[in-house]
Amino acid sequence: MTKIATQQWIIYKEFTFEAAHLLPFHDGKCSRLHGHSWKGKIYVKGNTLIAQGAKKGMIMDYGDIKKYIKPLLDDYLDHYYLNESTGLENPTSEALAKWIYEKLEDINLPGLYAVEIQETCTSGCKYLKD
Ligand SMILES: [Zn+2]
Repeated sequence: MTKIATQQWIIYKEFTFEAAHLLPFHDGKCSRLHGHSWKGKIYVKGNTLIAQGAKKGMIMDYGDIKKYIKPLLDDYLDHYYLNESTGLENPTSEALAKWIYEKLEDINLPGLYAVEIQETCTSGCKYLKD
């Protein structure tokens, strides 16, 4: 049996925010209140390109992805204390990536594939669902 190949594109939009958190269960310095310049990426996948108009040849306009993340940055993430603003007891990168993914799911970002959160220059996490 021959498998018919399907094509797929995955695009991403980066975002950044400044925020404080602490990890109450950590056995090291992360249990103290501290801040990061967080970076994130929203990944959107699609298997068809828009056929006509201003967005011809795209699966989604990057600017449209930005419209979905902006209210989250304004209301919960940028210059907030994440333990309070998100309601996460233990806002690890893992917890935060999942929280952002589920918020984007709630507001129906079409083609949502994954959310990546980078806590430092060398450490980060990507969350996705099967
Ligand atoms: Zn931290």
